[in-house]
Amino acid sequence: MQLANAKAIGIIAAIVVVAAIIGVAAMSAGANPVPTPASVESEKLAVVTSVAPITNIVRNVGGDRIQLTGLVPEGVNSHTFELAPSDSIAVGKADLVIINGLHLETDIERVAQAAGKPDLQILRLADSTITRDQWVFDFSFPEEGGDPNPHLWLNVAHAIKYAQLVRDKLVEMDPGNADYYRANADRYLALLQRLDQGIMASVQTIPAEQRKLLTYHDSWAYFAPRYGMKVIGAVQPSDFGEPTPQEVASIIDQIRQEKVPAIFASEVFQSKVVDQIAKEANVQVVETLRDDALPGNAGEPGHTYVGMMLENMRNMIVPLGGNVDALSDIDPADTYTGDL
Ligand SMILES: [Zn+2]
Repeated sequence: MQLANAKAIGIIAAIVVVAAIIGVAAMSAGANPVPTPASVESEKLAVVTSVAPITNIVRNVGGDRIQLTGLVPEGVNSHTFELAPSDSIAVGKADLVIINGLHLETDIERVAQAAGKPDLQILRLADSTITRDQWVFDFSFPEEGGDPNPHLWLNVAHAIKYAQLVRDKLVEMDPGNADYYRANADRYLALLQRLDQGIMASVQTIPAEQRKLLTYHDSWAYFAPRYGMKVIGAVQPSDFGEPTPQEVASIIDQIRQEKVPAIFASEVFQSKVVDQIAKEANVQVVETLRDDALPGNAGEPGHTYVGMMLENMRNMIVPLGGNVDALSDIDPADTYTGDL
């Protein structure tokens, strides 16, 4: 009996195995195969971006129907960033590369062009947002160097244009998800409009003679004219090194003349020179302005472009004598709807 049982079990086992093989074969040959998560992922438009704020803007439009890779790690100097070999592979596999442009990401552009994929598209957001005669050159980005100040995204009106450009490109390249991208963009654009208006109102609370920015890293060239502030200077020279003693002396003179209550260092660029300037000119130094690193940690609601701008406004407007009440009810969290 035991032998017969063993035999029976063996036959049943064989039937199960054969059935399983037939089942697998039937599934893969079937007219309507059930897609596995892996195949869904590979069907998504592969999008590669550069700095974190731009990655976050793209995420809010593309949601989870694009496969998104941000290349510049947060806290890394985006102006001198160079790709690692693994990043080059991501660029080579991409359908679409979305960068700021205005010569910020020359290394990504070089790799994208070298990938030799005729259908790989590159969307340069800043180049599509302003014309050449609107480029800003200044102390840190001098005209003779040929590279304009690239920091358009700190002007929320420009960030709105970025989101619209991203929406239009995703709709063009992936029309099957057009409605989804448009609905995401509508919600996100409404949030950006509120942010833009809130910053406008908040800057108005700074006494007029104090609406002046002296920063270490020169990120505010496009922000200032939008919101009625004036960039009176930047400390960082065009080679991203330290200024000369003569340059430091003239900055100190300027701060005394302009009577600004605070000057601004940057989260990414640590500099002892700013502390020295603040001490000699007897002004407060705020160390926390950021242009390409999002606050907090991934997954937290404030770890977004909007969250970065809200934090920047608190750190900028309050030390200059204003308040950010007009921004207090803005939720910085991502607004895209997920499928899962
Ligand atoms: Zn920067």
